[in-house]
Amino acid sequence: MGFFPPIGLEYIATALKDHVGNLTLIDLRQEREYNNPDRLRKFIKENIDLVCVSVNWSYFFNDVCNLINQLPNDIKLVVGGQQATDNVEELFQRCPDLDIIVRGEGEEIIQDIAQDIDLKDIDGVSYRNNGRIIHNPNRQLPKVDSLRNPDRSLRRTSYHIKSKGVRLFKTVFDTVLSARGCPFKCKFCTMDLNPLGQKRNYSARSPESVVEEIKGIDANIIFFADDNFFVNPQRTEKIFDLLIEQGINKRYIIQVRLEIYKYPHLLRKAEKAGFKVMLIGIESPHDWILEQLDKGFNSEEVRKAFKVLKDYPFFYHCYFIYGNIGESREEMLYIPRFSQEIGADSISFQKLQARKFSPVKEIVKKTPGYHFDSNNFVYSDRYSIKDLRQIQKIIKKSFYTPSKLCSMLKKLYDIKFIMPADLLWFFIRFPALLYKVLAREIEKRTGKKKNG
Ligand code: SF4
Repeated sequence: MGFFPPIGLEYIATALKDHVGNLTLIDLRQEREYNNPDRLRKFIKENIDLVCVSVNWSYFFNDVCNLINQLPNDIKLVVGGQQATDNVEELFQRCPDLDIIVRGEGEEIIQDIAQDIDLKDIDGVSYRNNGRIIHNPNRQLPKVDSLRNPDRSLRRTSYHIKSKGVRLFKTVFDTVLSARGCPFKCKFCTMDLNPLGQKRNYSARSPESVVEEIKGIDANIIFFADDNFFVNPQRTEKIFDLLIEQGINKRYIIQVRLEIYKYPHLLRKAEKAGFKVMLIGIESPHDWILEQLDKGFNSEEVRKAFKVLKDYPFFYHCYFIYGNIGESREEMLYIPRFSQEIGADSISFQKLQARKFSPVKEIVKKTPGYHFDSNNFVYSDRYSIKDLRQIQKIIKKSFYTPSKLCSMLKKLYDIKFIMPADLLWFFIRFPALLYKVLAREIEKRTGKKKNG
């Protein structure tokens, strides 16, 4: 989405701090001036002797390969991140001067590399040796509490909520990671696995350390990057209590499971502590799909939960998956109606993906008539990717009506997620957003790129 700080790379940079003289962190999504290859090359040649590149999203993969191939080839280069881990062989093949790939979580590995430990002795790396690619064994996962908080002073730019590249609100945005892993086993999800496919046991930081980190953050809106913030209700309550006791005045976004409705006293504390937006994975309105995905609840429980949740002043964003195995067009198109019925404030919907290591991949392989494309999106003989895209458009149009967009904005304002200054900013920037949306639509329809 382009507005999340590069928190993963910041963890790596922080881990490196004691081992190098100077550190520079460049976010190429934001610092456009460095997208000029000559400038970037010159900067690296004059200042840098170890370059670490992170690639986490498939849609950046080609760009990052091109970038790597333009970097000076006499400077040590290490590449890591989810996409590097998933595509080690391809990355080496496409980047002939790349020598080291870090697989999985890299905080400890990068310290070993910076200390010039022999590559053959560093678990978790793949490297080139006399033209051969060597894959060392996987590395044991570190405990999340053993990691130092990311050093935000390395940031050279601030982050704001954006849409289509347009900054929507004035308030600065940041992310905090309070725990890694998730004890649930939803079949489509690889969040509970690390990029090597290793099950990441739920590992949480102490409430005190989380609140200490928050106190040092300038941003007023904080997104908890935890897969599931509510795994341990006692720990969550302690975080709420500490935030309330210490009078920390920020607004928070969390990802939670539906079962949060069973804890009304925690919902009240969450409200008091400044929690505003909850992102909840519902996945499907249909019981047989929820069962297929091993979600652990059914549609009746979803309705019951939302009856409780709507009494609390939170903004509920629900995630859905469509194009499930055996799902008909009509069933997919029920998503917006169901969302309205339960009272979801906003929704997002994704085609089913057969990600590496996800059980869905094996199921798709065994199901006649079902396939996945190079981005792992599942399609079938009945519904092609193009058909699914059309269905997606219909879902989007029927949910996001102009009145829905207005009620979303109103709710965000009513619950004080957006403040008067944000609202003013939004209305000033709205024409730019509208222009971008329309320009993109025209471009799609005419197939021509508009200048300016
Ligand atoms: S979908 Fe959510 S609850 Fe299920 S395994 Fe993934 S992170 Fe956990």
